[in-house]
Amino acid sequence: MKMWRCTVCGLIVEAETPPDVCPRCGAPRERFAELTEDQVTVVRRSRATNQLHVDLLTRIQQIEAIADAGIEDNLDPGCLGVFRKAKEMASLVRQFGKAEIQVHVNKGKWG
Ligand SMILES: [Zn+2]
Repeated sequence: MKMWRCTVCGLIVEAETPPDVCPRCGAPRERFAELTEDQVTVVRRSRATNQLHVDLLTRIQQIEAIADAGIEDNLDPGCLGVFRKAKEMASLVRQFGKAEIQVHVNKGKWG
């Protein structure tokens, strides 16, 4: 399948032909440029990695919820320590993930 980039807003559309108008910014068909094979490969790679980031963030949120439940449960200092540590580490990974995604967005890597 071919890919087309709107030269006005950067939206990438996967289709045999470009859309009549850009669904994001309304630019006409003539403003779409076909991506080269190399560019298509980069977009597909980026989308796959983006999905991994989304999966990771989903799991991190689950860990944070478990950690919160464990902290609330507060059985003894040992348990509390484990759940606090889990929350702290999950929060750190979440921040790293979000920062990395932001780097990609700034580079215009995501289609
Ligand atoms: Zn557009």
